[in-house]
Amino acid sequence: MPLRGFRSVSALAAASGGTRGHILGGFSTQTARAAGDQAAALLISCIWTKMATRQTDLPSIDPHCAEFPLRVGRSRIHRFGVFAVKTIPRGQKVIEYTGERLTLKQAQARQTKNWKRGGPRMDTLFRLNKKCVVDGAVGGSGAELINHCCDPNLKTRRIRGHIFYFSRRRIRPREELTVDYRFPSQAERALCRCGSPKCRGTINRKRARR
Ligand SMILES: [Zn+2]
Repeated sequence: MPLRGFRSVSALAAASGGTRGHILGGFSTQTARAAGDQAAALLISCIWTKMATRQTDLPSIDPHCAEFPLRVGRSRIHRFGVFAVKTIPRGQKVIEYTGERLTLKQAQARQTKNWKRGGPRMDTLFRLNKKCVVDGAVGGSGAELINHCCDPNLKTRRIRGHIFYFSRRRIRPREELTVDYRFPSQAERALCRCGSPKCRGTINRKRARR
């Protein structure tokens, strides 16, 4: 899957100004790779360590945050994914999306530092509301591993300051859980290879018709 991203911080800010929720999406380019900010280096180092750890030791689901037994496994969509162990009926709360809570400004700064370092894509920033972003890369429940699909079996609901994934339909055992990331239409285009007959071709939302 290609790197996703915003062309600039201002684009991110613009993209983040709406009220409809979605994962912010990360960005990663080769530009400004030489920027030697130690704090950024430390942050990216931590992210890389976490990712490296996840590649060798299979990441797991925090059972306290999940309402159904779930497991992490190799995904046909992208790297690791989350799979149902047992049947999940329609309309059920499946898992909470947890992580470090950041202000929009802090999230933008985190993305910028990551971008300057040419770091890995950050698609773990999930906007809770206009002011708060949850970074699933830090203290995440495992929900941050759920991959994007244009015809997902999960939907997002925000309830009293928490983000939950609910089942859109009945989910069979061993089926991969998916959610629509809804990257902003004005953000850099991120090609989608979810394989769904309803795939819109990009993880970005389509532009609204006027
Ligand atoms: Zn798709």
